This record gives sequence, structure tokens and C-alpha cells, in this order.
Amino acid sequence: MSPPRDFASADATATDDVNRPRVPIASPYTPRYQDPMSNISNFKIIETTLREGEQFANAFFDTKTKVEIAKALDNLGADYIELTSPAASEQSRNDCTVIAGLGLKAKVLTHVRCHLDDVKLAIDTGVDGVNVVMGTSSYLREFSHGKSMEYITKKAIEVIDYVKSKGLEVRFSTEDSFRSDLVDLLAIYRAVDKAGVHRVGIADTVGCANPRQVYEFVRTLRSVVNCDIECHFHNDTGCAIANAYTALEAGATHIDTTVLGIGERNGITPLGGLLARMYTADRAYVMDKYTLPDIRHVENIVAEAVQVTVPFDNYITGFCAFTHKAGIHAKAILNNPSTYEILKPEDFGVSRYVSIGHRLTGWNAVMNRIEQLQLSNMNDDDAKAITQKIKQLADIRPLGLDNVDVLIRQYHTGKQTSEHIKVLNSIESPDQLTTTGNR
Ligand SMILES: [Zn+2]
Repeated sequence: MSPPRDFASADATATDDVNRPRVPIASPYTPRYQDPMSNISNFKIIETTLREGEQFANAFFDTKTKVEIAKALDNLGADYIELTSPAASEQSRNDCTVIAGLGLKAKVLTHVRCHLDDVKLAIDTGVDGVNVVMGTSSYLREFSHGKSMEYITKKAIEVIDYVKSKGLEVRFSTEDSFRSDLVDLLAIYRAVDKAGVHRVGIADTVGCANPRQVYEFVRTLRSVVNCDIECHFHNDTGCAIANAYTALEAGATHIDTTVLGIGERNGITPLGGLLARMYTADRAYVMDKYTLPDIRHVENIVAEAVQVTVPFDNYITGFCAFTHKAGIHAKAILNNPSTYEILKPEDFGVSRYVSIGHRLTGWNAVMNRIEQLQLSNMNDDDAKAITQKIKQLADIRPLGLDNVDVLIRQYHTGKQTSEHIKVLNSIESPDQLTTTGNR
């Protein structure tokens, strides 16, 4: 485990004593004292849009699209890219071979049943690692009743030994981990850890877990195994990002994500949302490791491929993610963006937008727009007068920025001949503020 990052002097000057008190500066939201078990500053992303994401209702990725997504994820800095099992279909097997042969920086994994036949198929595709999952829920039921625990463990170890003998990375995961018997689960995780598995995986297959349960589960598992811990959270009840974050706090090392969170039912932890969450915990780590402005690009590719639009409230890239509306907010944002923003839009390659054409607007934001338009000879009183007119008109309907600009410009023109008040009084409807003929 790496030490906490981004610690710096409380009052950083060149002459500081080396023994000075150290406090985190990465973010005011970062815990002051980091738990040594926590991996919020040292985690890896297993991007499974090309496996879990294929289970999304609308998903059908042809080879070309898969390659495009894989390359975009690789450029973004995904640590691993997980692919559908080559046992699923002939095309799936071919696609594994193609993507494994792309020479990506990311490690390429495929997700297969804990079965030697599947594992052999996987290895033949040239992937870097195999994510094995203990097959079906009936297995689990049987297992949790203790009937065939020895059989399951033996089989898992056989598979792990085989993958390792081929020099590949191997993960062993159970399905529906949070509704399985904890004692049985820990026993099998301990056994595969002893057998030298690289990671164990836990999966909230049905999206039932909450952050507190996750914390307790992962903490317990952490005390039982030495290998890495991968977590997979479904989002049926909206906890997928919170659960991922909590899992890392409790000592998990790898988180499964998909672009836009697509997956079975309503999907899993979304890549963009997780990166936003982790950015607030350790901005330097996240910015150093991941190319954040690429999020929008990969989301656009996937949204188009599965024929959805990026949701309005999407993390980072939703159309209103960095839009400030209320007058008080707008004023504060213009003075100091961090008052109402914990994410810096420029770090993600997106822009902040201050919305001013509505009845909640404030004169500071309007003045800011006047300055952007570089109109001379305008003062605070002018901004206040224009703001009152915007509020009056916006009670009829909201104004677009183009409407607001027309209003400002007409006022400004009127001011040259001291007729600005008359100009304002003559405007009674937003429909008068069209750009045609008013430039
Ligand atoms: Zn899943």
C-alpha cells in the first residue's frame, strides 16, 4: 500500500523545517488523517463496458465499436479493460483476440465461468488476465448450504493454478456476494488467496448493499486475504458510487465501472461518476493517472453506440453539471468558483456556465456578461436596471443568452444618447429581443 499522497507543509515556504507539521492540500474534502487501510489514493479501475456494458438492454457492439471504445478507455487511462467471455459466442471470441492484440497500455481481461474449458478458451485469445466468477446462483446456493464446498474450492484452485501456470493474472469472484453466507464466502476467499490468486472479487449483483454493509464486508475480507480485492456494485438503489468509494476506504483495491454506468438492468458504478468522486478525495492522484477531458469523448462514443443520450444530471458531462443559476450562487461563483463547485470544470475539459436570463438572476452576473461583451461606459447601476428588466421579462418566459445580449446592447446603444431608460420602458415582451436586425 502506498503512503498517503499530496501532503505538503502547512505553510509551505522554501525554508521550512523538514519536521514541520504536514497536512493534506489536495482537497479540503480529503480526510485530514488518512486511514492506512484506505486505498482512496491508490486504486485501479477495471473498465467493463465491453463485458457488463454488453448486458445493457440496448447494447450491441460490433468489432469496430469495441475497438473504438477500448482505445478511448485506454487513452483515458483505464487500468484494465474487461471483455465478454470468449465462450459466449464465436464473435465474442474473435473480438477478445482482436482487442488483446491491440497493444493497449491497459491490461485486457476476460470474464469467464470458473471452468477449465472457458479458461482455456480465454487464454488462447491472448488476454493478460482472466476474471473467473463462480458460475451460477445454484452453485452458490449449494455452496452456502455447505454441500459441495470442498468441490467448489477444489475446482477454483484447479482453475487458478492453471491460469497461473500460463503466466496470466487471475481473479476469483463470487456472485451475489452480499446475500451469501459470510462464513462460507470467507472460507473460499481464504482458500483461493492461499492458492495464490491475484485478486478476489465481490459482486453486489442485485444492487442491495449499502455503504455501511460494504465497509464492514470489505474490512472483514481485508483481514482474511492478502491479495487484491475487486468490487462490483450494481446501482439498483443508487448506491453504486458510494459503495465503491466506501469499499476503497475499507481496503478494496480495484473497482469495476462502465461508461455511463450501463449494464444489466440499470447498470453499475459509472466511470465518470467514480472519477468525480475520487477527484474530490485525491485530485492529484486522479489527474495524474487519468486523462479526465477524455470522459466526454468516451461517453459520446458509448451513448451513440447504445442509442441513449447523456443524462441531464450526469456527473461532469450532464448539460447542467456546471451551470449556475441562482443570483446569489452566480455572484459567488464569479468571485470564487470554489464557493459552489468542488470539481473544477477546466480539469475535465468542460466549461462553467452562469445562467442569467431568468427571474432568479442577479446583477453581478449581468454585470459580468456586460464585461464579457466589452461594452464601455456601463456601471453597476446600468447592470441593476437591466437586471430588473430581465426579471420582469423572465416572469413571462425565460430568456436565452442571445435575448439577454440584445437587451444589453440596446440599452448600451440608448445610453449613448441618454435614452436608455426609454429603451428599457419600450421593451415589454421577450419577443422584442430577437437578434434579427438588432446587432
Ligand atoms: Zn454485474
